[in-house]
Amino acid sequence: MDTIQTQVIIVGGAVAGGSLACALAYQGIHSVLLEKRKTPTDLNRGDGMQPRSLEIMEEWGLLSAFEKAGAIPAYGIEMYHPFLGKLLEIDLGVVKTAHPHLLNLPHRDIEVLLLEHARKSGYCQILYGNASDLIMEEGRAIGVSATIAGSEIEIYAPVIAGADGAQSALRRKIGIEVAFQEYEHDLLVLHAQRPDWFTGKLRTRVFLHQDGAAILLPLPDEKVRLALLVPAGQGGQWKMMTEEALLHQLIKRNPRLGDLKGIEKQGEHIYRMRKMHAPTYAAKGVVLLGDAAHVTHAAGGLGMNMALQDAHTLAAELASAFQHRVSFDQAYSNYERLRYPVNQGVIDRAEFMSKQLWTPSQRAFWGRALSLAIPHYLLPFLWKKITTSLAWRNAGILTPTPAKRSPFPALIVALYRLSQGRIGGHSHQNPVLLLSTQQENNKMHTVPLLFFPKGDQLLIVASNGGSDLPPQWYRNLQRNQQVILHIGSTSQKALATVADQDLHAELWPWLIERYAGLEAYQKKTPRQLAIILLQQEVPTEKKEPEFVAIGAK
Ligand SMILES: Cc1cc2nc3c(=O)[nH]c(=O)nc-3n(C[C@H](O)[C@H](O)[C@H](O)COP(=O)(O)OP(=O)(O)OC[C@H]3O[C@@H](n4cnc5c(N)ncnc54)[C@H](O)[C@@H]3O)c2cc1C
Repeated sequence: MDTIQTQVIIVGGAVAGGSLACALAYQGIHSVLLEKRKTPTDLNRGDGMQPRSLEIMEEWGLLSAFEKAGAIPAYGIEMYHPFLGKLLEIDLGVVKTAHPHLLNLPHRDIEVLLLEHARKSGYCQILYGNASDLIMEEGRAIGVSATIAGSEIEIYAPVIAGADGAQSALRRKIGIEVAFQEYEHDLLVLHAQRPDWFTGKLRTRVFLHQDGAAILLPLPDEKVRLALLVPAGQGGQWKMMTEEALLHQLIKRNPRLGDLKGIEKQGEHIYRMRKMHAPTYAAKGVVLLGDAAHVTHAAGGLGMNMALQDAHTLAAELASAFQHRVSFDQAYSNYERLRYPVNQGVIDRAEFMSKQLWTPSQRAFWGRALSLAIPHYLLPFLWKKITTSLAWRNAGILTPTPAKRSPFPALIVALYRLSQGRIGGHSHQNPVLLLSTQQENNKMHTVPLLFFPKGDQLLIVASNGGSDLPPQWYRNLQRNQQVILHIGSTSQKALATVADQDLHAELWPWLIERYAGLEAYQKKTPRQLAIILLQQEVPTEKKEPEFVAIGAK
């Protein structure tokens, strides 16, 4: 039996697997990719690459090939109500990026381009065949057995990536159990010629209707992809309709859809709409990405983009592991920490979007339409804010959400001081200290924080309630590590240092045992919540510096 040794085995060669091969090649990491299909899929499943994905493809040197293949730009989303007119216009032009638009290309071309790019890099060997089993040693996967052109081979690598889709066999083999939640509707997807009125600055157009929305996505060669929401389980009868009967149904949803010509039956497909998010992305030495890790409602149009962005993050973390800066398990956990909240956000937003598109009762249909129409027509400033934020979200480019300023820390600081820690000295079964750090204007900034004594050091965590932005005191530490701690009636100088990756990995479970809320904060943000070690100096008798509490004028 032939054996191959490589750095990363990728099972699955669609968007997730192809992207990972490109991302690894970019990092100089070798891979063997196994794909059981000899030809790319001809299903219409995802044609739009969002701005964040375009930034990544540019980094990999793949963007120009994408453009040369005929990808066309699309600048956002427009949503129309049959009686209220245009309810929503999301313009990606407001997003600050080199590519403030989507690039749309048929799904199969995207898969081909990714695999071609990976193959040409010289870092990826593509094998067409079925990955049949994992090779285990002491409970950890160390390789994959596969059947290639009728022969059995064994491939060994320190990293095995499962990019084998929503029904992932690898996920099952490593014991990660998932639950799919089905929506009440299916999606009929087919292609047609772009109607004459679909011109100008191209955007995805959504036509709302109580029976289910129709979505037109512009494609190259003057084509459109039509996605139609239909009641769950009725897919078969829609597939069997003649073009005439189908057009009749489309006109019922919106008369303008009657202008669709050349509806193609080839590639027509009915998709069961569902969502799933695996509880964890890695186990037993196997790491998951793409649909193997999460499935989202197609209304968000982002499943493929999530797969590509997973690959980008995972490859960067694996590069650290191959350079011996972190262990492979640490790299998997860093990848999960960074991607999990982002992917959950996409799943939640796609669900929100699906509720606009599927409104089976008249009440829901009008209620949801009015919730868009009222700010659109009556509150233009608020509307601009909402659509700008939606544009950033749709672009996939993270904008840090600033933490809300609360007046309570100032009050707690005052009470803590007055009572010498008898009030406010404990919270969530852990002691509280006051931390004073030096601001840019040299004034001191004081906040109450939970602390965790460990040996002769005190640990604090820059959680900021799980905001994407680190707290002000943490930013102050970047300038000056000298701080003052107030515990009860004592004040002490201390030196603050941030735990490095290895120490963070060691301390984090210990901290979670003491305060589980930290884990909930971490799940809210892709930012790693830094752990800070405070090394105290001898107690000082000096006069206290001037304190400025958060929220104080
Ligand atoms: C109707 C519809 C519309 C969509 N629209 C969009 C959109 O506009 N934008 C967007 O970003 N996303 C969209 N998506 C989602 C997107 O298609 C998927 O999220 C994405 O393609 C998933 O890619 P993947 O590589 O993870 O999985 P898959 O595409 O399922 O690929 C898995 C691959 O693994 C291979 N494989 C499986 N088992 C083995 C094995 N044992 N050995 C070897 N190979 C194996 C399979 O052959 C397959 O090629 C849409 C999805 C649907 C259903």
